[in-house]
Amino acid sequence: MRCPYCGFIDQKVLDSRPARDGEAIRRRRECLACGRRFTTFEAPERPRLFVVKRDGSREEFSREKTFESMRIACRKRPVPMDALRDAAERIERDLFQEFEEETPSTAIGERVMRELQALDGVAYVRFASVYRAFESPTDFWEVLDSVRQEEPLAR
Ligand SMILES: [Zn+2]
Repeated sequence: MRCPYCGFIDQKVLDSRPARDGEAIRRRRECLACGRRFTTFEAPERPRLFVVKRDGSREEFSREKTFESMRIACRKRPVPMDALRDAAERIERDLFQEFEEETPSTAIGERVMRELQALDGVAYVRFASVYRAFESPTDFWEVLDSVRQEEPLAR
């Protein structure tokens, strides 16, 4: 990065130490051109993943939303909440590993279906029937909304 005093791009790092309760690294640097010292902080970016919707708009992926939809699909089924939480976590982790910044809606759909299929056949069929009622699989993120809003599955 550039020296804030002279704009030169290279520095010597004099010292590195944890900062902000270990959430960042603080580095003391000395500019190789002008010799002045300054401090930088390095911290991980909060990982975010956006689902691209049918109309082209984007919504941030939410593990909670994914979990809620699966929970509703599993209503009155002998599926432990812990198993659903684990499933939602697996889906999230998997998506973050495979995609950067954006995920196709279908990628979420496939994973939710796979998890539900392994957990409970009835819940899987419930979910799949809502899923199929949508014209295109790219609507998957909206399927989650639909499942949550109407709860049409609990008949
Ligand atoms: Zn400088």
